[in-house]
Amino acid sequence: AAVIVAIDGPAGTGKSSTSKAVAAKLGLGYLDTGAQYRAITWWMLTNGIDVKDATAVADAAVKPVIVSGTDPSAPTITVDGLDAAGPIRTQEVTSAVSAVSAVPEVRTLITDLQRSIAAEAPNGIVVEGRDIGITVLPDADLKVFLTASPEARAARRSGELKGKEATDLAATREALIKRDAADSGRKTSPLAKADDAVEVDTTELTLEQVIECVVTLIEG
Ligand code: C5P
Repeated sequence: AAVIVAIDGPAGTGKSSTSKAVAAKLGLGYLDTGAQYRAITWWMLTNGIDVKDATAVADAAVKPVIVSGTDPSAPTITVDGLDAAGPIRTQEVTSAVSAVSAVPEVRTLITDLQRSIAAEAPNGIVVEGRDIGITVLPDADLKVFLTASPEARAARRSGELKGKEATDLAATREALIKRDAADSGRKTSPLAKADDAVEVDTTELTLEQVIECVVTLIEG
């Protein structure tokens, strides 16, 4: 039977690297749900929608066609057929995504999309995000909630950005904390651990150790 794995947690806990590696090891699909919220945000920005205007965002949300490729060795994301992988990682999108993802109509649309992608995955899928275990796939076979200290998360995120954008650790740490607060402080689908999720604190673990841990949890 298809195996459905939900991996949630805040930014910088290693969700993406862990999810991709686990999916590749076990022959499962991989879905980055943050990339979908970033993609719809990118579309809003490039189409002149004021992301602070929730009504305008809600009205426009049905327009972009977002397609996610679920091969963990080469995940893709397109918006209206355009490759969005690069543009969704800009600072402009990162700053606007919390406002867009807080709009209920956006969440409903993206949640439906996520459920259909998961249902169609032949061997199963690893889905990573914030609300997967609680809202999107409450019947997942395994739910993992990754955590790490703010320092460890900022260091990892800085490492990822190195070369792409000049960043300093303190600024990265502040930006992460601000985005977490925006993501958890809202009414719709806050970042939260499901009661039946296994919490893994990755602060003192290497990526290999986290991957091993999740693989062991899946294989039982
Ligand atoms: O994972 P990533 O940092 O790329 O997510 C970008 C943003 O998308 C988050 O800050 C959050 O606002 C939103 N998001 C969400 N629900 C998810 C995944 C991401 O609201 N399941």
